[in-house]
Amino acid sequence: MNFAELIGRMGFRDKSVRAFSSLSGISSRFQVPRKVRIVEVGPRDGLQNEKQVIPTDIKIGLVDGLSASGLRSIETTSFVSPKAVPQMGDAAEVMRRINRVPGVSYSALTPNAKGLEAALALNVSEVAVFTAASDSFTQKNIQCSVDESFDRFEAIFSASSRVKVRGYVSCVLGCPYEGVISPQRVVEVTKRLFDKGCYEVSLGDTIGVGTVGSTARLLEECVRSGIDLSRIAVHFHNTYGQALANIFCALQFGVSVVDSSIAGLGGCPYARGASGNVATEDVVYMLNGMGIETGVDLQRLLEAGKYICDHLQRQPSSGVGRALGGKSSQ
Ligand SMILES: [Zn+2]
Repeated sequence: MNFAELIGRMGFRDKSVRAFSSLSGISSRFQVPRKVRIVEVGPRDGLQNEKQVIPTDIKIGLVDGLSASGLRSIETTSFVSPKAVPQMGDAAEVMRRINRVPGVSYSALTPNAKGLEAALALNVSEVAVFTAASDSFTQKNIQCSVDESFDRFEAIFSASSRVKVRGYVSCVLGCPYEGVISPQRVVEVTKRLFDKGCYEVSLGDTIGVGTVGSTARLLEECVRSGIDLSRIAVHFHNTYGQALANIFCALQFGVSVVDSSIAGLGGCPYARGASGNVATEDVVYMLNGMGIETGVDLQRLLEAGKYICDHLQRQPSSGVGRALGGKSSQ
C-alpha cells in the first residue's frame, strides 16, 4: 500500500493529508526513482562463496522462497566448471527443478561458450558475464587480463540477440591488489560491455570500500561520459558498512536497479576480508521507508532469509533480518 492509499483508507481530511504528503515527499525532495528493480544475487553470488556445499533441494527451496516474496530478478546459478566451483556443480538440476514463476527472470552466470550452451539448453531467462576494472583482479580471479576476458566472452556477446546478456564490472571502487581504481577505467570497461550487446551493466564494489564520495565521483564520470544510468545497476558489498548509504547516493543519480543478497550472503574469496553483499531485507526496508516500489513483500523475504540462515546455522548479516526475523507475520 502506498501513502495515497493509506491516507484514503484512513479517511483523513485535507489538513492531515497535507501533513502526510509532506512526509511522503521524500521521493520528490531527493529525486529518487519511484520504482526500483532488485536483482537478488544470493543463490549465486551468495552461496558460491559459502564453504559448506549446500544441498540442491535447499538451493531450490531458497530460489522458490525468493520468487514467492515478489522478487522479479533472481540470479539463480552459475554454469561454471564444477572443478573450479564445486558449489555450483548442480546448476542444471537447480534450473530444471525450480518453480518457474511467470514474469520472474532467472539468470545464470556463464563464463564461456560451454556455460552459455548449457544455460540456454535449460531455458535461462538471461545470462551474465563477469569482468573487472582491474587486470590484477581478473588475473587472480579468472586467470586472464580484462582484455582477454572480453575475448572469452565473444560467444556470449554474439548470442545477445537470442538472450539478454548482463555485464558485471568488479572492483569499481577499489581493488584488493591495485588499490584505488579510476572512474575513467570503470567507464571504459562499462562502455565496452554495452558496445558488445549487454543490456545492463552492474557496477560492483566487490570489496566494499566505497563511500558516498567515491560512488558519486564514479556516477558523475558515467554521466559525463554519456552512459545511460537507466541501464546501470549498482552492486555494493557492506564490508565497511557503507552499502545502504552508497545505494541511496546512486538512487539520487537516477539508478533504479540494485543488486542485493538475501541475508547478506556471500563475500569474495579473492578479496581478503571482504564481507557479504548488502542484504536484500535491508535494501527493501530502506526503499519501503522512502515510498519506493519494489514489488517485494518484506515478510516473505524475511522468511526466505530465515530459511537459508537456519540451514547455514547462522544469524543473517542483515540488521532488518535480525530485528524482525523472529517475529511472526501476525
Ligand atoms: Zn557481490
